[in-house]
Amino acid sequence: MSKKLISIVVPCYNEEPTLPILYPELNKVAEQMSDYDFEYVFVNDGSKDNTLAMLKDMAAKDTRVKYVSFSRNFGKEAGLLAGLKNAKGDLVATMDADMQDPPALLPELISYVESGEYDNAATRRVTRKGEPVIRSFFARTFYKLMRRMTDIDIVDGARDYRVMSRAMVDSIIALPEVNRFSKGIFAWVGYETKWVEFENVERSAGETKWSFWKLFRYSIEGIVSFSNTPIHMASYMGIGLTGLSALALIFVVVRALIFGDEVAGWPSLVCIITFLGGVQLFVMGIMGQYISKTYLEVKQRPHYIIKDTNCEDSQLNG
Ligand code: UDP
Ligand code: MG
Repeated sequence: MSKKLISIVVPCYNEEPTLPILYPELNKVAEQMSDYDFEYVFVNDGSKDNTLAMLKDMAAKDTRVKYVSFSRNFGKEAGLLAGLKNAKGDLVATMDADMQDPPALLPELISYVESGEYDNAATRRVTRKGEPVIRSFFARTFYKLMRRMTDIDIVDGARDYRVMSRAMVDSIIALPEVNRFSKGIFAWVGYETKWVEFENVERSAGETKWSFWKLFRYSIEGIVSFSNTPIHMASYMGIGLTGLSALALIFVVVRALIFGDEVAGWPSLVCIITFLGGVQLFVMGIMGQYISKTYLEVKQRPHYIIKDTNCEDSQLNG
C-alpha cells in the first residue's frame, strides 16, 4: 500500500532569515513520521529579499520542496489559498514560516485527523506573551465583536496553523469569494475540529509583517465578510432616531401651543443637526464598506497571479 501524502503549506513574505530554521525542523518531523510521505508547498508572496532563490535552491536538492511564486505581494490569505490549491496531500497542514507555529506539534495534530474522529485539528494560543499590550487588547475586542456579530464561532487566539482532511480542503478552495478571511472561512465550512492549545512562541527571526493598521483593516474585513450586523445596526439606528425625533416634535408643538413660541434653543439645534449629520455619514460609511466589498467580488479578479512554480499542473491564476 502506498503511503499517505501530507502537504505542508507555508506562506512566505520576506522569510529569508526564518526558512533555514524552519526547513530542518520540518525534515525532523518528516523523519519521525516515516509512515507518511511529505511535500512542502512554500508560497513566495512577492518577497523583496532572497526568499525565492532560497526556495529554488531547496527545491533543486529536495524533491519534496514545491514552491509557488507570486508576481507581487498578494497578502497572506492569497498565499494560503494558492498553497491549498497546489497541495496534493491526503492531509494538508498550513503554518507560518517563523516557527510561531511549532512544527513539533504536527504529529499530534495529524494523529487527531488520522483517528477519523476529527476532520481537522487546529491550534490556538492561550497566552499572548511577548506581544504588545495594546495589540492584545484590540485582538481580544475584535474576537468578542466577531462572536457577537456572526453565527460562526471564531475562537480567540486561533492561529492559521491547522491540519485538514482532503474533504475540508476541497470545501475551502471551492469557495469563490475574493475577500478571503481565512479564520472565518475555516470556521464557516464546518467539520469536526479538535482544538489544541499552546503557549505563544516568539518569531524565530526577522520581523512581523503586520502593522497595527494592517491588522485593523484585516479585522474590518473579517467583520464585513462574515456579518451583516453593522448594516442592520444602521437601520435600527435610523428607526430609533426617527422615533425619537417624532416624539421631540410632538413635545415642541405641544409646548408652543401651551406656552407660545420663543426663538430660543438654536445652539441645541446646531448640535442636533451636527449629530444627525455624523450619524448619517457613519451609516453611509458602513454601507460603503459593503458596497466596496461587493464591487471587489463582482469584478471576479483572481486572488493571485503565479509567476513561477515547480508544481505540476498548477493554474497560473487562482
Ligand atoms: N505573510 C505573507 N504575506 C504577507 C504577510 C505575511 O505570506 O503579506 C506570511 C509570513 O511570511 C508568515 C505568515 O504570513 O509566514 C505570518 O506573518 P507574520 O509572522 O509576519 O505575522 P504575525 O505572526 O506577526 O501575526
Ligand atoms: Mg509570526
